[in-house]
Formats: sequence, structure tokens, C-alpha cells
Amino acid sequence: MRAMQLDAPGGRFALVELPRPEPGPGEILVRVSACGVCRTDLHVVDGDISDGRYPVVPGHQIVGTVEAAPAGSPMAVGQRVGIPWLGYTCGSCAFCASGRENLCDRAEFTGYQRSGGYAEYVAADERFCFPLPEGYPDIQVAPLLCAGLIGYRALTMAGDGERLGFYGFGNAAHILTQIAGWQGRRVYAFTKDGDSESQAFASGLGACWAGGVSEDPPDILDAAIIFAPVGALVPAALKQIRKGGIVVCAGIHMSDIPSFPYADLWGERTICSVANLTREDGMQLLALAPRVPVRTEVTAYPLERTVDALNDLRAGRIQGAAVVTVS
Ligand SMILES: [Zn+2]
Ligand SMILES: [Zn+2]
Repeated sequence: MRAMQLDAPGGRFALVELPRPEPGPGEILVRVSACGVCRTDLHVVDGDISDGRYPVVPGHQIVGTVEAAPAGSPMAVGQRVGIPWLGYTCGSCAFCASGRENLCDRAEFTGYQRSGGYAEYVAADERFCFPLPEGYPDIQVAPLLCAGLIGYRALTMAGDGERLGFYGFGNAAHILTQIAGWQGRRVYAFTKDGDSESQAFASGLGACWAGGVSEDPPDILDAAIIFAPVGALVPAALKQIRKGGIVVCAGIHMSDIPSFPYADLWGERTICSVANLTREDGMQLLALAPRVPVRTEVTAYPLERTVDALNDLRAGRIQGAAVVTVS
């Protein structure tokens, strides 16, 4: 089968021919239709994070059709499924036992420790795959599988305040703006200074204000979610939130956070990160998305142009989501 394989962190990432994966016990074989591109893929390919199992096929917003399933599997042959970032948990560590499988000590992640979706076929643990909502074409549903559902976890962690700041208006923010609006909340979109195209995109999706990261929004915020991998945005966002407010860092990697005066944290303000997802997050988001209904803005790339998709994401040339189409 054709696959985009990464040799090592920051190493060669290219189209190769690999044997079709042999599903192990409890695994299904999925023929991949589309795989969403996530900023985490950039961090994996660039070597910003390097705990993967190499060589590895990245890609963890996988949409495909079950080609083979073990007897008694919850997934049926011919069924459309989604395969997310969380690919395996141990089920027995203190985190798994307390409903926080996203923090599992022995977790394995798709497209990092487990083979991912930039390939014609992938084998996946049947317990970590999702049935997908009807009414979404494959390339439209793919971005929900990470940007959507880890974004949804970040939105939940941000609390129920009315005024939300989103820093970095990419894939996750374009989905969450629609959900937050449906929840009756107001979104303030912060983009790179002068990025009027992204600001117009945010306004078109319902943001009540859009501006550059060094601008002050018209209102004090209840919470902020930082999607851009830029540590300097943490103290910047902290200055915009009220007492008791929270700044949620939603990415897996970020540049160092500069120091800031304690007075900016005073007043029971909180800074936290969001790590991975639980299967419960996934089920909640995939049930919610068609009710909103969330519409994804997608730019499609064929498998052999995956590197172009990553480069366009890195350069900020994509509004909404990039998705790699496989078959
Ligand atoms: Zn565990
Ligand atoms: Zn992701």
C-alpha cells in the first residue's frame, strides 16, 4: 500500500510502499478514505515532540471503511468509522481507573506510537474507533476527529463563561466558534496582527470581535483558549481575563512561556493545558456536531501532496482544515 512515512523525528517524510497492516487481536482493518491534518502532525514531523515509535505513518483524524473485523466486534465490515489520536489505553492505571484515560500512563497515540492515517490502510484497536454521524462527507467529518473533539475538551475545560477568547484562528477555532455560538456564548478571535483574512473568516463564522493578538478586545473575557503554539500568548491572554478566569492551552507543544508579574495571575486566575481526549469526549462531540450543525471548511490534498498540506498549515495558508484524501 502507499503510505507517507516518517523515518525519525525531524527526519525524512516521504511516500513509500509498505505491506498492508495485519490487524492484531481486537483490531480492525480500515481502508482509509480521508485523514485530517492536525498541527500535532507538524510537531511530529518537525521533531518538536519525539516520543513516537519510528518509523511511523502520521495522521490521526482518520475516516475510512471497516475492511475486516474480529468476530463479535462492535464495528461491522463495511461500516464507516473514525479513528482519533487516542489509540490505546491500559484500562488499569490510576488515570484510567478515575475516568481520565486521556492521561493514561501507557497510552498509545495514532500516528505517533501507532501507525496512522496517511496510508491506504490502517489497523486500529476496535475499542477506540467511533461510528461517525450521517450527513457529513468523509472529508468534512475528518476535522471533527481531533480539532473538533480535543477542541471540545478545551472548550469544556474553559468553563461556562459567556465571553471566550480564541488565540489562533485555525482548524479547532473554526469548529468551536460554531459550537460556542450555538451555546449562546460570544467568541473573540485573536489572529496574527494584520491577518485581516483570518479575522474576516472568524467574523463570518460568528465571532463577535476579531483582531490581532496585540489588540485589546472591547470586553473583558471570562476565559481564553490558546491554539497557536506560541508561549507569549499565555501572559497576553491572562491580561484579558477577569478574576477567576482561565487560560487553557490546547496544543501538545508550545514555545516557552515568558515570565510575567504575579499580579496578572492573582485573583484566582488559572492556567492549564489540555492533553489528548477521552472516548467520552469523542462521543459527546460527534453527537453534538450534527445538532449545531457544525460545518467544516476544508482544503483537500491527495496523499502524495501531504507535505504540501503540512507546509501550507505551517505557513498559515489554510483557512479552516486541511484534509488528505486517500481513496
Ligand atoms: Zn491507563
Ligand atoms: Zn490532532
